[in-house]
Amino acid sequence: MSNAVASDSNSFSQNVSKLVLDNSAYSFIILNSDLKIVFFNKASEVIFGYSSSEIIDTDATRLVLDSDKKLQKNYLKALFDDANNTLFKGFVEFIGVHKSGAKLHLESGISKITWQDQTFLVLAITTLDKVKTYDPYSLERAFILEMIIDNAPMKKILESTIDMMQSHLQGIKICFWINQPSGSWYLGTDFPPEIDFIIQDKVSQFKRQFNKSKEVKFPSYMLDLENEDYGSISSMTGFKKIFIEPLLGHNTNKNLSGVMILFQEIDSPSFFSDWRWITSYIKLAELAIDKSNQEERLVHLAMHDPLTGLATRGVLFNRLEHLVESCAKSSYKVAILFLGIDNFKLINDSFGNAYGDWLLVEVASRLQIALRSTDKLARFSGDEFVVICERISQEQECLVVAERISQALKRPFRIDDNEIVITSSIGLALSQGKDIQAEELIANASAAMHKAKELGKDRICLFGEKIRQTNTGRSNIISGLHRAIDRGELRTFYQPIYNLSTNSVFGLEALIRWQHPTEGLISPDKFIPYAESSGLIVSLGAWVLYNSCKQLSTWQENKNLSFSLSVNLSAVQLGNKNIVEDVKRALEESRFDPQNLHLEITESALMSDPRSSLEALTKLKELGVKLAIDDFGTGYSSLSYLQCLPVDILKIDRSFIKNLSIQSSNSAIVAAIANLADALDLQWIAEGAETLDQVEELERLGCVFVQGYYFSPPHDFKEISSLLEEQLH
Ligand code: C2E
Ligand code: MG
Ligand code: MG
Repeated sequence: MSNAVASDSNSFSQNVSKLVLDNSAYSFIILNSDLKIVFFNKASEVIFGYSSSEIIDTDATRLVLDSDKKLQKNYLKALFDDANNTLFKGFVEFIGVHKSGAKLHLESGISKITWQDQTFLVLAITTLDKVKTYDPYSLERAFILEMIIDNAPMKKILESTIDMMQSHLQGIKICFWINQPSGSWYLGTDFPPEIDFIIQDKVSQFKRQFNKSKEVKFPSYMLDLENEDYGSISSMTGFKKIFIEPLLGHNTNKNLSGVMILFQEIDSPSFFSDWRWITSYIKLAELAIDKSNQEERLVHLAMHDPLTGLATRGVLFNRLEHLVESCAKSSYKVAILFLGIDNFKLINDSFGNAYGDWLLVEVASRLQIALRSTDKLARFSGDEFVVICERISQEQECLVVAERISQALKRPFRIDDNEIVITSSIGLALSQGKDIQAEELIANASAAMHKAKELGKDRICLFGEKIRQTNTGRSNIISGLHRAIDRGELRTFYQPIYNLSTNSVFGLEALIRWQHPTEGLISPDKFIPYAESSGLIVSLGAWVLYNSCKQLSTWQENKNLSFSLSVNLSAVQLGNKNIVEDVKRALEESRFDPQNLHLEITESALMSDPRSSLEALTKLKELGVKLAIDDFGTGYSSLSYLQCLPVDILKIDRSFIKNLSIQSSNSAIVAAIANLADALDLQWIAEGAETLDQVEELERLGCVFVQGYYFSPPHDFKEISSLLEEQLH
């Protein structure tokens, strides 16, 4: 009875199984070990379009894409051979092929059965269009995205990506090759050096493709290591295939920021269905690298000179501060080489700024080549470079470096058809092992460089006691001048300019003086050069402008008189972007008539940067003021250039008025300048007339306006006011 029941239930079970298989919505396909189809249920007929009778006993790979056939075959064979069933995993996606050739997006669960000592694979297949797809890795990807947003270090993000991918993808090992501005490096699975060559080769192929097309679409590179060329690598590593995926920057020029390398250890059909996961990880890796590169670029930009790519002054000081600190505790010294290119301004003016820029880049690269690997180079300013030499035990060591760079710069520079030879002046200062600040060390080296220039350029000067003294004198004057402005120690003196034809005062020249508390009245020649080199001249000059316009306009308004006022402008002021605004403000606030303001600029100042002088003068002229060239005859201005400048007056330098007498060479020069001024329709003034003879000779030469001790030296405002009043009565 029980046997009868058992046999009943067996046959029930068999019948039901058969019914279920036949009527299931899932396609059930059973394969034997030769991968021949031995069972093909109704649902399979519906999905694939074949009848059971035409497909039984035929090869199962006819149901997949031609390109996947080999891979699928290997995978299914591996499943048969997989004694411990380690390769079986839940469901895999794959692309199937309908009888009509149409592609089918399918998912299959595979199991292994044994019947009558034979092994079979049972494939339970369903079409994915009907299955609600579940994204098992979305949480992990969100985690990586969070790391990117939180600015986690790029290496950390990529390490997490590797971990996640390796745990999700069967038999896959991951490695990144990252190409950053600061260098390239690998992260992840180790591999033999032979593979490095393969990767670099593929990278250069990628790069070539970049250059070819703007719309870059990259297939991943797949290397079959099982083919003859790479067979040894495959047996050594166990890798069967390598996939190399480019990682592209998301910026506009789509740089190749690296590659993701996938080492496949077993052929798995699921690898292709997993590809969309891989793609999403690639996108995340690209984002992480991009963000890190952008930050690196920003930091680089902030710390490097955009023209030469060298470290900036700020970086230099930072580095030096640390070095100086650590040197104070050791027997080594730090040396600073302060290098200035001789006559760079002249090169710029003669060949143009673009040439000057090119030369600076070339100089920077020659310096880099000539330096030792431990030396640090920075661009200090325009044509000035600084080198820090570390761990110096004696002067001689850095003198050798200085000599080498000086020689390196002497080799001709060539661009197009031009060849140029330059020299440099180098100042050297050593930390001397004692407590010295970074700024002081740089200032010492800079002072030594200036000394080298003073001594005739093209030389190396070591900072020593003598330079220290002149330098201290200089900084005393500069700090004293700062105080002078704050404490109101500056004075404006005025010297009259006479009109010989009317025998009256035509105008006044404002001349600055420094009423020093202990040194007495200091003349401008003693402090103007320092005010210029420190930039103080800008505020000092603005003060003279305002003060003299104000004094004269109040006085003139009260007396109902009108004189011209001449104010000197230095080249530094002329090059300052605020100059037009300063003059405008002085005129407006003092209500001085612009027609009566004469701005004097020395000829040499104009010629030091003719192009920008012209620009500044044109703007000043628009304010309605008159412009005079001071010390004319000493600055070698070309006639053609003079013609372009918007000037009204030439002031003949007093060196030509000295020794002026009939038939003297100076007389001929003054006559020539007078002719020139007439031809250009300019007024001319002779300055520095001290004697009656000189005045008479000037009169003979047709001079109308004269300035000089013969008439009056410069006076302070009170004195000049009473002098003028006296003359009026
Ligand atoms: P400068 O503009 O050519 O001024 C004329 C200079 O010649 C003045 O010297 C004046 O005192 C001097 N001088 C005038 N007549 C005679 C004379 O008959 N014989 C001799 N030996 N000298 C005479 P000072 O006042 O010492 O000024 C020297 C230079 O300093 C000025 O030359 C000018 O270039 C500069 N300077 C003066 N004040 C200022 C200022 O406010 N700003 C700027 N940037 N420079 C100024
Ligand atoms: Mg002057
Ligand atoms: Mg002068």
